[in-house]
Amino acid sequence: MPELPEVETYVQELAPLLRGRQVLEAAVTWPRTIALPDAENFVAQMAGQRFADFSRRGKYMLLGLESGLTLIVHLRMTGHLLVVADDVAVAVHTHVVMRLDNRQKLLFQDARKFGRLWLVADPAPILAELGPEPFAADFNLDYLAARLHGRSAPIKALLLDQSLVAGVGNIYADEALFRAGIHPQRAAGSLDAAEIATLHAAIQEVLMLGIAKAGSSLGGSSLQNYSRPGGAPGGFQEEFKVFRRTNQPCPQCGAPITRIVVAQRGTHFCPHCQPSA
Ligand SMILES: [Zn+2]
Repeated sequence: MPELPEVETYVQELAPLLRGRQVLEAAVTWPRTIALPDAENFVAQMAGQRFADFSRRGKYMLLGLESGLTLIVHLRMTGHLLVVADDVAVAVHTHVVMRLDNRQKLLFQDARKFGRLWLVADPAPILAELGPEPFAADFNLDYLAARLHGRSAPIKALLLDQSLVAGVGNIYADEALFRAGIHPQRAAGSLDAAEIATLHAAIQEVLMLGIAKAGSSLGGSSLQNYSRPGGAPGGFQEEFKVFRRTNQPCPQCGAPITRIVVAQRGTHFCPHCQPSA
């Protein structure tokens, strides 16, 4: 699933491709892709819209339109946005096509069909459940300590909770916990102040590295989790220290990386560098 670095890459790379461009017409071939309004009204309202500004909140992409409306995109498992020439044949799993005023088109492709688009006047209700952004001032040590205090849930599960910190998912949670030397199943409330500080820094570090490498691309072909708006893969998968490296040597100590399931998610860690207590 695309996480903060992948969505941030989209925002940065879509902006120069779409800013000022007008949508001549939109078509939706899988109506459930459109969360709000319904597909018919989405098609009617998108025609004539012009892209103005580009931002991100957690894993949500916010494409601001000159009309004041916002097109919100959540890629979920396998959603992709692509900008291609108008005469490029539309591939399978393309659920939304927006023809632009520059002989290009914006495509939403999604093999697993969990991705969603919203066209709304006010994005706030859709984003209401999100906690602080990981680089914002309100995601600080006091905040993190207060949120972890007394919690018996595994720290990995809390890192995946978008109300704790917005944008972290399975990849970056595993990579952050490894860098912090914290076992993913540790009770969140058992972390001491030094561990919380190390984890806080590690979360920011892995997300920053992920953005610098234009995100992580996993899997192959149409089930690939993520590719950049021009179709190229990201590069952070080359930097993984534990994620999907089961039985490969830990880059720090050489012990085999172990895979367990935490919060129903495949979880990768080094049993030596991340002791359970
Ligand atoms: Zn190790």
